[in-house]
Amino acid sequence: MKKFLKKALCFLTALTMTLSLSGCDAFLDALNSALTPSSGSVSWEGSTSGGGSSELPDSSSTGGASTGGNSSTGGGSSTGGSTSTGGGSMGSSNSSSSGGGGTVDPELPDDKTAKLDIHFLELGNKYTGDCTYIKAGDTDILIDAGSRKDSATTISNYVNQYCTDGKLEYVIATHAHQDHIAGFVGDNNQGIFDVYRIGTLIDFPREGVSTQIYNNYETKRSNIIAKGTKHYTALEWWKEEQGLTRSIEIADGITMNVLYQKYYEESTSNENDYSVCVMFSQGDNHYLFTGDLEKSGEESLVQSNKLPKVKLYKAGHHGSKTSSNTALMSVIQPEIVCVCCCAGSSEFNAQPLNTFPTQDFINRVAPYTDKIYVTSLSVNYSGNQTVSMNGNIVVSSMGGALTVNCSNNNTILKETAWFKANRTWPSNGV
Ligand SMILES: [Zn+2]
Repeated sequence: MKKFLKKALCFLTALTMTLSLSGCDAFLDALNSALTPSSGSVSWEGSTSGGGSSELPDSSSTGGASTGGNSSTGGGSSTGGSTSTGGGSMGSSNSSSSGGGGTVDPELPDDKTAKLDIHFLELGNKYTGDCTYIKAGDTDILIDAGSRKDSATTISNYVNQYCTDGKLEYVIATHAHQDHIAGFVGDNNQGIFDVYRIGTLIDFPREGVSTQIYNNYETKRSNIIAKGTKHYTALEWWKEEQGLTRSIEIADGITMNVLYQKYYEESTSNENDYSVCVMFSQGDNHYLFTGDLEKSGEESLVQSNKLPKVKLYKAGHHGSKTSSNTALMSVIQPEIVCVCCCAGSSEFNAQPLNTFPTQDFINRVAPYTDKIYVTSLSVNYSGNQTVSMNGNIVVSSMGGALTVNCSNNNTILKETAWFKANRTWPSNGV
């Protein structure tokens, strides 16, 4: 009986792919919904309560002069289209097969998983901030939420193109700095914590800040927990407390793994080193996120985990000179690196070589890859002029080769006009 079912599934999958190629979308949708199990294998047990109802006003104004929108003059010449990188057998993106979230078939071939799309969002203002949206099969994950309260609107407008049920199964807040948590808070009742139902929130075990935005974050976190969101710190998750499992399957063949680093437990004056670190794995493809972790945290991460080589690494701390150190790079040897920043912005450092992405960061990544992508370009920080570099960066895979599609262009960093004017590619670079 099982063999018959498997054969039938193979036939339907082949039919799905054929129809996908021939563009029979309506029939495909019906077929996919018939094929996709109604209940997922992932027990995120999200809240079933409605959207945001917090009435607490956000008294602090964090500013947030948005330049609004992402004009497209920056970042060098446009190559358009998608870029396929890495080896493997499944380079082309197939938009509608293998919907995830279902019970895992133990006989599923190793190289075939639910589709994984990792979006690095451009947040449409001059301020550097992090936000990564991940769609793994039917599971929606958000890591950080930008630097300004109004980033929430930019994020939700983008995410709602892909997340249509108003529910984020997992949200990860890496650390307590404004440029990672402001959008969770949002303006009035428009924060990410207000407008989505959040299944599980994973955040930082420690923090040393006393900012208004963090106080607001704590308040809204309490609100969503009261409404049913499950909340764990990365340390609780990693220690598998309360029946948790450190590595969980979030879609067919895709796992989410919370990694350990010592500043989950030790105190430091460097807030960035409190960052939650997480890796997603899809067969032999690994995708690493370290928040703003800096040198000491990275060394602990390397010592505490048996890290593999990774296909994708979100540049630590926006391409800062204090992150992406050799101890980490030599182990993970990334193939694609995505940087969430406004290139050349003097927001955090006026020294030209130390503006994000820094020359030191480039020097340490270059021996492993030149496939570096950057969301935005600062034309004039004080003048509020910010444009797209690559724009929104989307890295996709079904377990084999990765594709990179960017909203502005797919030009790798070293080929951009900004790079040629402001950075050098080291002689030991690839
Ligand atoms: Zn940051």
